[in-house]
This record gives sequence, C-alpha cells and structure tokens, in this order.
Amino acid sequence: MEKTFDSEKLIQEFESLTKDAKRVQLETLNKILKENCEAEYLKKYGLDGRTDPRTYSSCVPLVTHKDLEPYIQKIADGVPGSVLTGKPITTFSLSSGTTQGKPKFVPFNDELTETTMQIFQTSFAFRNRAFPIENGKALNFIYGGKQFTTKGGVIAATATTNVYRSEQFKKTMKAIQTPSCSPDEVIFGPDFQQSLYCHLLSGLIFHEDIHVISSSFANSIVHSFRTFELVWEDLCTDLRTGVLSSRITVPSIRTAMAKILKPNPKLADKIHKKCSGLIDWYGLIPEIFPSTKYIYGIMTGSMEPYLKKLRHYAREVPLQSADYGSSEGWIAVNVNPTLPPEMTIFTVLPNIGYYEFIPLREINTDVDANSISVEPESVGLTEVKEGEEYEVVLTNFAGLYRYRLGDVVKVAGFHNSAPKLQFICRRNLILTINIDKNTEKDLQLSVEAAAKLLTSEKLEVLDFTSHVDHSSEPGRYVIFWEVNGKASDELLKQCCNCLDASFIDAGYVGSRKTMAIGPLELRVLSKGTFQKILDHYVQQGSVLNQFKTPRCVGATNKGVLEILCNNVVKSYISTAFD
Ligand code: AMP
Repeated sequence: MEKTFDSEKLIQEFESLTKDAKRVQLETLNKILKENCEAEYLKKYGLDGRTDPRTYSSCVPLVTHKDLEPYIQKIADGVPGSVLTGKPITTFSLSSGTTQGKPKFVPFNDELTETTMQIFQTSFAFRNRAFPIENGKALNFIYGGKQFTTKGGVIAATATTNVYRSEQFKKTMKAIQTPSCSPDEVIFGPDFQQSLYCHLLSGLIFHEDIHVISSSFANSIVHSFRTFELVWEDLCTDLRTGVLSSRITVPSIRTAMAKILKPNPKLADKIHKKCSGLIDWYGLIPEIFPSTKYIYGIMTGSMEPYLKKLRHYAREVPLQSADYGSSEGWIAVNVNPTLPPEMTIFTVLPNIGYYEFIPLREINTDVDANSISVEPESVGLTEVKEGEEYEVVLTNFAGLYRYRLGDVVKVAGFHNSAPKLQFICRRNLILTINIDKNTEKDLQLSVEAAAKLLTSEKLEVLDFTSHVDHSSEPGRYVIFWEVNGKASDELLKQCCNCLDASFIDAGYVGSRKTMAIGPLELRVLSKGTFQKILDHYVQQGSVLNQFKTPRCVGATNKGVLEILCNNVVKSYISTAFD
C-alpha cells in the first residue's frame, strides 16, 4: 500500500470531524464565504463580510439550478470577473440531468476533486476494515466521456470525467489498492460500447487479480454483465488468438489492448468452460473472478431495482453501496459497510460543504420548487431530527450557495454529532395529474409489486419508466416495461391491474375511483428499447457512469418518448377500479 494512505488516521480524523460537527460547519461556511466574498453573486446579497449562518440564510436565497442559469451562462460565455466564486471557474460538470432530458452545467474546481478524494478514502478506510483487500486490481466499468469547451473557454465534461481525469484520482485508486485493470485508453475511449467490451476483456485477462468490481452506479454493472452474456464467446476467441475483435476500431484502444492481450488458449478454454457450466449466469462473478472481495457502486435510490439481478450475478460476493453525492458536490459517506445495500446509511462529512435541510412538511406546501412563493425554513446540519425527512440544501466551494439539490433524505440517527442519512428519492413528484402525488419511490414500489407476479412465469422486468398521458381526458399514468421474455397476456393484464392498485397515495386512489384519473396503461416494449434510450443519452453527451434510466419521461422529452412509443409491442389497460 502507498505510504500516503493510512486507514486508521483517516478514521480518527473522521471521528474528530463528526464529534465536532457544529463547529466544523461554522468554520466551513466561514471559509467558503471568505474565499468567495468578491464574487458578484455574494456581493449582490450584501453579506458585508458576515459569515454567521443566521445572516447567511436571511440574506442569501434558496435557489435551484434554474435561478443560477444566468450566472452560469456568464461564466460559459467568458464574461470577465468573479461571478460565482472568487477564483474564476475554468471547468464545468455536466450533471446527468436525465430527468429533465438534457444535461446541465454546474461549476467544478480543484476543491471538489479534493472533497471527492476525501469521501473515497474515508469510505474505503471503513470498508477495508470489514472487507480487507490485498494488492489487487479493480474491474471498474468507468468511462471518461467527451470534454468540450464553451464559447468563453470553460472546459465542460461530466463530473465523473472531471474526477477520472485528475491526477489525484489515479493516485488515490493506487493508494486504496484498486487501480483499474483496463488501460487508460479504454477508460477514455470515444465509443462506450468499444470501451465496455475492452473493460470485460481486460477483466478476463487479469481475472485472478480482480479484487473489486465497481462502477459509479449499480445499473452500469448490471448492464456490463448483461453485455458479457452476449459477447462472451467473442471474448474467448480474442483470448485464444490474442487478436482483438474487429468490432474495436479505435486505434488508441487497439494499441493499448495489444500490450496486454497475448494468445492464451488455456485461459480461453478455462473461461469458456466456466461460462458454459453456469445456469442462467447465476454466480457469474465469483466463477470468473474468484478473488472478488466485493462489488461496489451506488445501489440505493433509483438503483435498488437492479439489485436482484446484481445478486444473481454475485451469488455470495458482498454488495457494497458507495457514497452519496452529486455533480454539485459530495454530501455523505458510507461508514457502515456491513449493512445490506437497501439499508445503507450515509454520514455527512461536515467539512466538505455547508448543509441545510428543509423539512419535508415545509416542502409539501410548495409543490413546484421553481415557483416558490414563500421561502421554506431550513435547519442546520446538527439541528435535524431522527426519523424526519428533509430536502438537502448545499453550499459548496465551487459557487453554489443554498442550492436545493432536489433529493429527499431521512435522518436515520447520528454518528457522533453528524447525521446519518438514508436516501429516499428525488424530490420532484414524477407522477401527478391532479391531486395525486407519486414519487420515484412510489413508482418503484408499485413496479416491484407487479413484477413479483412475473416470477410465476420465470420472467423479470429488465427496466421501466413512466409517463403521464394527457392526450385524452382524463389523463392517466402509462408505465413502460421491458421484460426478458414473452409473458402471457393474462399475466400481463394482472400486472397492469396490480400496478394501478399499488399506487396507494390517497389523491390517486380517490381520483381513480371518481375517474378524475383514467385507468393505468401498461405498455410492454420490445427487447433492447432501454439500450436505445441509453444510446440516445450517450449521443447527447451523457456518459454511462452517470446514466440513470429516467423514471418518468415528460412530454417535452420528445426523443425518448418517441423511442418508447415506437417500440411498444403490446399494451394493457387496467380494470383495477372497474
Ligand atoms: P448526477 O446528476 O449524475 O450528479 O447524480 C446525482 C444524483 O444521483 C443525486 O442528486 C441523487 O439523486 C442520486 N444519488 C447520488 N448518490 C446516491 C446514493 N448514494 N443513493 C441514491 N441516489 C444517489
């Protein structure tokens, strides 16, 4: 292990920061406001050098990304002067923004790289206590997406790309013993299908040394192994002959792979035999990568639906849910690695940002965050109450002040004096027609209940999304499913009714009974539709690392809606309320 990394020291630091969370928060706010006091944005709100939380929250308003767009545009256009930060912003992150259908810019700087490394190292220190790994490699399904430059010369890329490109990332990964098995040219390749193929091939070449399998989000790990199921024979041919498949056309990737790919018929036979012996790919990971200590990635929130498939591939290999953060900045770290992924809790690191929390009951009176009339009251990090739900508000070192992140979390307790958060859902109501209010989580629960019925025909839902259809009166919910085989009409009809009946929100049930909302429609999609949606986002500049299937597709997201509607093979109308 590199000398720079000392697990016990990091744990001690974490303990002392969390013991003194209130003071650390005050110091952090003070530091952020002092460093950026010359910024046009902060000057406008007349803080006049005051940095106490009370003055801060009474002078500076709560904002959403939309409120900051004029400032972000100025930076993108290269308008001189300090706009949001004291030091000029030279890099943007593209937040995945898959719910709105287009990526959005958020400022990125070196401080955000540093806080990312602090989060990675802290969670590793705790994880390594519970699941020690020796010097090994990681099969990291990561992709450095494209960078481009704005009119004003600011570099823009996804947050993950910005982090992967930093020198600190490589150093940290080495220090925490999980350097990627794939060459850099694969990680930073221009075509993610080709990169994915080469990640898998690199994994097979180093299969005995792989200690960790990871990706930013769990869906990407599942996607990678679903791809493995399709290409494993080609991978074996490459191993046998030492010649990379002709599907890889990017010269830099071919050159880099040629350095590690040598003819190895013995290895090809071994992998071929193992794959052929698997039943329905159950236990694929431990069979092919026998030294894997755990599988790592964000597994909470909208990633929960992928856990079943991940467990199928993983068999007994533990799943470790990664930390909680966003392109806008990190928030909290998973220091309880022995909990199952569904129960993961995240402890807020009080020195990487200044955090406020809006109690959910305040939010429920404010249906649309973009049209707030009365500003909801927020509370400080150490004032939150166990058991209560809140929306997270972030102030960071990169020019975001009192920024509503749009996530709902529940306080699950405290680690010393820092709260432990459970991720609940994105705040935006995704399904609403009149008085009904259903969140991403409600949709997930309803899909889970209905998908259980499919198991009687040994089928599963590969992925799902939803849409509010206002094209006829009354409006209704449409749920799109991609299923991994052909289910009978009768069963799908039952699933459709179950979906409808599983939205238990009183507004929905009442509206359905009075026909103020029409019967739910289940539309079954042809195989590969969600792959087409992923390709669509990738073409638009998203990268696989941060891709999350949009759980609701709005009418304005025409591209995706078109893909969905053009690929419907069957549809069913609920009779649950007839
Ligand atoms: P991005 O826009 O790609 O930066 O994604 C950030 C969003 O991903 C957050 O605002 C959350 O909604 C979600 N997210 C990040 N970390 C987690 C986590 N550990 N559990 C659940 N959702 C998460």
